[in-house]
Amino acid sequence: MKAVLFERFGELPRIADLPAPSPAPDGVVIEVKATGLCRSDWHGWMGHDSGIELPHVPGHEFAGVVEAVGRDVRNFKVGDRVTAPFIGACGGCSECHSGNQQVCENQFQPGFTQWGSFAQYVGFGKADLNLVPLPEDISFEEAASLGCRFATSFRAVVDQGELRAGQWLAVHGCGGVGLSAIMIAKAIGARIVAVDIDEATLKLAHGLGAHYTIDARSEPDTAAAIKDLTGGGAAVSIDALGHPATCVNSVRCLRRRGKHIQVGLLLGDDAAPKIPMDIVVAHELELLGSHGMQAHRYDAMLSLVQDGGIELNQLIGNRVDLAEGAKALSEMDRFEGVGATLITRFE
Ligand SMILES: [Zn+2]
Ligand SMILES: [Zn+2]
Repeated sequence: MKAVLFERFGELPRIADLPAPSPAPDGVVIEVKATGLCRSDWHGWMGHDSGIELPHVPGHEFAGVVEAVGRDVRNFKVGDRVTAPFIGACGGCSECHSGNQQVCENQFQPGFTQWGSFAQYVGFGKADLNLVPLPEDISFEEAASLGCRFATSFRAVVDQGELRAGQWLAVHGCGGVGLSAIMIAKAIGARIVAVDIDEATLKLAHGLGAHYTIDARSEPDTAAAIKDLTGGGAAVSIDALGHPATCVNSVRCLRRRGKHIQVGLLLGDDAAPKIPMDIVVAHELELLGSHGMQAHRYDAMLSLVQDGGIELNQLIGNRVDLAEGAKALSEMDRFEGVGATLITRFE
């Protein structure tokens, strides 16, 4: 099979001809029909993720068709249209038993702990627990664009934030995660204020449902501006970027008993931002993380997409082939378009 392969971190990946995977007894092999490029793929390629062994095939946001099933798989058969959360769960640990597969203690991740989906075929284990059947009216491209962005945003806004109609959501950073959060919040009937430093992005945020937008380049105190616009602060606020400044602004813009959700990754020197714990105590704020989503919550997410009029196509940017995908991966720190780049051609 053809795949994007890198043998050294930070070195331009090449297209390699590799043996196709065969299914584990409890796993499947999926013919990849669409797979999204994500900033965490870039971090992995740069060597920021210690779990990757070389040589490596990246890719974790995929949808496709089951090509082969292991002997113990009960719920899926060859030809099924499927997608999967980017975290594969073990099914045996206490987090899995409590339904929190997104923080499984023995998790595996295609594209990180094993070869991923920038390839014609990808293997995926514990299929009965981790695979999600795809409704006919959701395309492979739309499903791949759910990726980690939209699914993590859904968990952040709906499950962690418990955002309700009429409440204010603040979104700090309007890349894929932030725009997904805006679409989800609009479908719920919440009110939204969006912050970014790019005019075109803010325009898009407004078009997708943000009631107010703030350009952080011209507004020196975004937290104060949000408190002003929302009459006291946001009920839920998301740092969708992952930067010490947006993280602190997100905490500071909350109303009393509000919830900050950290979705953007804070890595390396940025890993320990100075959180204003004085107001966390005085205002009884909640600080929560959101890291992926369980397979069993895809039902609720896809229902909101279908009933809430969410158009996933708006999250799709360029459609490319494997070679173009390899190049785009290496350039992700420089060009991160608003829509996700999808690899849709694998020949
Ligand atoms: Zn587990
Ligand atoms: Zn991702």
